[in-house]
Amino acid sequence: MDCIFCKIASGAIPATLLFEDEEVVAFADRNPQAPVHVLVIPRRHIASLAQAAKTDDALLGHMFGTVAELARTLQLANGYRSVINTGPDGGQTVEHLHVHLLGGRGMTWPPG
Ligand code: AMP
Ligand code: ZN
Repeated sequence: MDCIFCKIASGAIPATLLFEDEEVVAFADRNPQAPVHVLVIPRRHIASLAQAAKTDDALLGHMFGTVAELARTLQLANGYRSVINTGPDGGQTVEHLHVHLLGGRGMTWPPG
């Protein structure tokens, strides 16, 4: 499968890894939108949140637990934003599920 995030998870293409375990990989976004911009992905290919099954609930929880742990490690004590873009209307551009962790500056609301 020609999926750039699967290739990052397998080590086939390089990324700046911040964390990995058997289930998830976290790496720096190559086009950062904030001083901290990290992506947390499942190792297993899931195209988007819309494709996640009920049996993926524990994995989804682990992804967000990883976000929270990374935010502590990266000392985002003043807060941060965690976002999943889903599908065309959600602004998703890479079709492998990922959570954005954005921090290090104040965020605005509503998003564009
Ligand atoms: P989204 O628009 O929610 O699908 O987000 C995709 C994100 O992946 C964007 O923020 C991109 O900058 C990022 N991205 C795409 N390719 C790479 C890559 N090879 N390494 C790191 N980040 C990437
Ligand atoms: Zn993939």
